[in-house]
This record gives sequence, C-alpha cells and structure tokens, in this order.
Amino acid sequence: MNHRLKLKAIYIIISIVLILTATIVKSYIFHSAEFFLYGLALIIGGYYKTKEGILKIIKNKGLNIEVLMILAAIGAFVINEYAEGAILIFIFALSGLLENYANAKSEKALTNLLNLAPDRAILLKEEKEVEIDAKDLKVGDIVIVKVGSQVPADGRILFGSTSINESMITGEFLPVDKKVGDEVFSGTINESSTFTMSVTKDMKESTVQKIIDFVEKAHNNQTKTETFIEKFEKIYVYVVIALSILIMTLPPLLGQWTLSDGVYRGIVVLVVGSPCALVASVSPAVLSSLSNASRAGILIKGGKHLEVLAKIDTVILDKTGTITEGKPEVRELYFEVDDEPLVYDMVYSLEKQSTHPLARAVVEFLKDKNELTVTSSEIPGKGIESIYEGNLYQVGNFNVEISISLKERIDKAQKEGYTTVYVSRNSILIGFISLIDKVRPQVKDTIQRLNELNINTILMTGDNRYSADNIAKKAGIKYVLSNLLPEDKHMHVSSLKTEGRTVMMVGDGINDAPALAVSNIGVAMGSGTDVSLETSDIVFMNNHIQNIEKSILLAKRMNQIALQNIVFSIIIIGLLLFSNIFGLIILPIGVLAHEGSTILVILNSLRLLRN
Ligand code: ADP
Ligand code: MG
Repeated sequence: MNHRLKLKAIYIIISIVLILTATIVKSYIFHSAEFFLYGLALIIGGYYKTKEGILKIIKNKGLNIEVLMILAAIGAFVINEYAEGAILIFIFALSGLLENYANAKSEKALTNLLNLAPDRAILLKEEKEVEIDAKDLKVGDIVIVKVGSQVPADGRILFGSTSINESMITGEFLPVDKKVGDEVFSGTINESSTFTMSVTKDMKESTVQKIIDFVEKAHNNQTKTETFIEKFEKIYVYVVIALSILIMTLPPLLGQWTLSDGVYRGIVVLVVGSPCALVASVSPAVLSSLSNASRAGILIKGGKHLEVLAKIDTVILDKTGTITEGKPEVRELYFEVDDEPLVYDMVYSLEKQSTHPLARAVVEFLKDKNELTVTSSEIPGKGIESIYEGNLYQVGNFNVEISISLKERIDKAQKEGYTTVYVSRNSILIGFISLIDKVRPQVKDTIQRLNELNINTILMTGDNRYSADNIAKKAGIKYVLSNLLPEDKHMHVSSLKTEGRTVMMVGDGINDAPALAVSNIGVAMGSGTDVSLETSDIVFMNNHIQNIEKSILLAKRMNQIALQNIVFSIIIIGLLLFSNIFGLIILPIGVLAHEGSTILVILNSLRLLRN
C-alpha cells in the first residue's frame, strides 16, 4: 500500500475508534461529550473526502457527491443525529479507500513498468569509461554493458556475445543469446558476459519508452459508461439537493408533515439519493480488470477497449508470427541460373536489410555468404528489391514471369505446405526459397474455444494459398484469405466492419499495421515492433495466443459485473427514495443501506482482480 493510502486508512481507523467510544460513553456522559466525539470522528473521517470534494468543485466548477455526503452529515448533526452523521462519513471514506485500492493495484502495474527504464550507463569516451545518466545517451554513443546490469538504450552489439533476459518486454523468460550485430533493448538485463554496444535509438524512441507511453495512455482512456456516469453525476447532484429542499419545505407548507419530519426526510434524501454506488459501479471494475490483465502479460490501452472487447464476434488472425511462431526455417534454396554464387550473395545482402521474419530466416541460413553493397527498398507485403549492376533483383512475392519447370516445383513445395519466397532478376523468376514455420501449440485449442463462444475466426495472410490452407487446417480455422497486401488486409477488416461485425485483428505488426489500426480491437503479438505498440489497442507481451480468449472473457466478466453494479445501485436508490416519502426510512437504515450498497458494489468489482 502506498503512503497516501496508509494515511487515509489511519484517519478512517481513528474515526471508527471515536465513533465506538462515543457510542459506549454516550449513555454515561453528558450530551456535549457525545457531540464532541462524533464531531471529531466526522472531521477526521471526512478530512480527505472534503479535500477531494473541494478540489473537484474547483476543477469541474460544479458540485459533486462528496459535497452531497458532507451536506448530509452536517444535516444529520443539525437534527441531533450525530452517530448517523459520523457513521455516514466513516463508511463513505471507507468506500473511497477501497476504490483507491483498486486504483493503486492497477497503478502498481504501471510503476513496475516505469522501473524498467534504466538510469545509468557506462559510456566509452576516448577509451575511458564514464558513468552517465542513461537518458543523456545519444545515437552513436558506444556503451559498455556489464554482467547483471540493464542495457541502457536500444542498440546493437559491437564486441562480445552474451545472453540477455528480455522478459520485461517480451514476457519470454528464457534468456536470448546475442552476438555481434544483434539488436539489444533498453531495460533488458545482461546475464552472462560484458559486451560493448552502440546506441541506435534515443530514449524517447526506445521500445521500453513506448511500452510505458502505452500503459500511461490506458489511464486516460475511460469507458463510455464511465464518461456517461461522470456527466450524470454532475447534474444528478443538483437534482438530489433540489429534491431534498423540496421535501423539507413543500409537505410541511401544505400542512401534510410537521416541519421536523420534513427536515428529517429531506436529510434522508441527501443520504440515500446520492449516487455513490452508481459512481463506483464502473471505474473500480475497469481498473481491477486492467490490473488482472497486465499480470497475464496483456496490456490494454484503457477501459474503452474492454467495453468493445466484450462484443467481439470475429477474430482475424494474421499467419506469420501470429498463428505460427514467426521463426521460419529455410528448407532449401533452388535456382536455375549460371551465376549461383552471385545470386546467393544478392539474396543474402537484400534480406539482411529487412526485418521480416522470413528475411531473418534466410539470412541465418546464408550467413556465410558475402555481403554486397546494395541500396534496397522494401515493399510491405511484397518483399525487397534493388538494382545491382543494371539488373533489378526482387526477393518476395512480386508478380514475375515464371517458367513452367519452376512453376511445377513451386506448386509442389506450396502443396507440401511450404512458404515460398520468389527470387527474380528483371521480373523473370530465377529461383525460390522454401521455408516452413511451426504453428504455435496453443492455437488449435484457442480457436476451438473461440468458436464455442460463437466467435468467427479467419486467417489472413500475405502468403500463398496452399501454405495458408495448410496452416489453417492445422489451426482448425475454416475461413482463409490469402495472397493479401497490407492494403487488402485493411480493406477486408473494414468491409467486415461495415457488415456490422465487431472485429478483433491479431497480428505481429509486420505488414498488418493498417489492418490493426482499422479493426475495432487491434491486438499486437509481442512488443518487439514499434509500430505494433502505436497502432494496437492491446499488446500480448508474451505472445501467448490463449490471451485472445482470456482477454475476451475478462472483458465479458467486467461488463457483466459493471452491469450488476449499475442495476443494483439504481434499484437501491429508487427503493430508498420511494420508501422515504412514506417516512419508512430512519436515518441509520438509510446510511447503512446506501453506504453498504456502495461498498458491496466496490467489493463486487474487486473480484475482477482474481481469475
Ligand atoms: P503474413 O500476412 O503471413 O504475416 P506478410 O504480409 O508479412 O505475411 O508477407 C507476405 C509475403 O510477402 C510473404 O509470404 C513473402 O512471400 C513476401 N515477403 C514480404 N516481405 C518479404 C521479405 N522481406 N523477404 C521475403 N519475402 C517477403
Ligand atoms: Mg505478419
């Protein structure tokens, strides 16, 4: 518990001790001692809420429920119902504390992330080691990273090799082996040996910083219901005050009730009419869910998305890196040319400039080839190309002329389930690479359970039809869309949306960022790529595909609990207000029922912290 929460708890405890003392001594001691003790309990118990109430008045330029409750308590004192006034404020403060608790839980997830950001770095300057603030590092700086310390910036290894714990950004607990030329990320931990690296990104641009920004955004991203309730609260407070004054004055004026009955019932209106429970219906539920999700490695960019998530009826999965592990392996390279060595070097050099998983696999396979100096350009969803010595080389799935003999070989490879990457010179196919990628083991189960939830699943890929069908069969997915460019993926998602579907798109951020952005909920697998953090609404840090089902179920539970809370609190308020008109509610009952319902609602929400 943080400091402020502790302080609040202490104030609340003092307040209840005073209330209990007052209740015990009131039959023995004279009236003023009772007044004094309850009064003190009210002031101490209500200190924080009064402060919050006043700050909110200044901020929103209007009244709020804090003010209502304080008015009600003062009213109770005016009519000599000291105990009720003090208890009202005590329970009100207690429910506030519970709400803060839910908040603190989800904020803890955030501060844990903030701690991720490294603070010191050992800079190598004119062959001397200088310790500096990590945030002062600039692109191009050379840094030494000792064993056991945090990598201070995103960069590349210059000397040495090591294994690095990247669990804080990938959720994967197995350390990753790194050698010269490999990328390292700030905030990750060097586990085995000292290495030297060069900084490639400013702190602002680093992966860790993007994760932190993502989570911070979540806190400013309310659900629609929350926004509605907040607006409602502002108006409703005045309605309750007006109703209370009306009840205090009108029936006595008309000679129906005595004035003291009127004032009493008016104060009951202030107590029971205020929407404490309603206001506490949604936010603690949202915060508890966000915190629950983040413990499972699911980062959600705010409560708004939890609301949509519960309504998802279509889940589209990207193939490479989402359904498959994204670690393809080359089976073979096949070329029909006279200058094979050059072509090998060319393929190696081109793919080396791409971050696509297929490209990485090819580079790994051809790592003993020579690197040529080529300037390349990458076309998302197609591949990579370059002009070298007057010839256009393309690697990917460009539209090219294909000879019959090559066509047969390619068809065969594709039918066997291989992904094929074409290699062409001047738009004529000269060979191809076949690769195979494993389907993630949990995919089949996840798809089956989504289908049981009546959620449609669709596979979407830029890869060829055969390879797509093959993977879809292994995954248990019936609908397949293949041979798509990034803009086609975008188009399919939008048209499903126009059909009235609520679409979740799950991708790895490579070649599917536009589709992620346009879907109702864009989910990025892994936090490795920067685009994914910017365009997606949810990130699965640990690549666990089961998280699709888990997050949808969590959202459904949250919406259900929020609905229970809203209905319950409205019914209680209505019942109490109605019975009060007939004088059926005495103040102690009003206080208990009203504040009790608020606490119940919050406790109901805190259930979402658990699975
Ligand atoms: P997916 O939709 O399955 O994630 P992509 O859209 O990333 O696939 O890529 C689609 C196809 O484009 C690949 O199957 C491959 O043929 C080709 N391709 C794209 N980029 C590259 C690259 N850098 N190297 C080789 N092939 C590529
Ligand atoms: Mg992909």
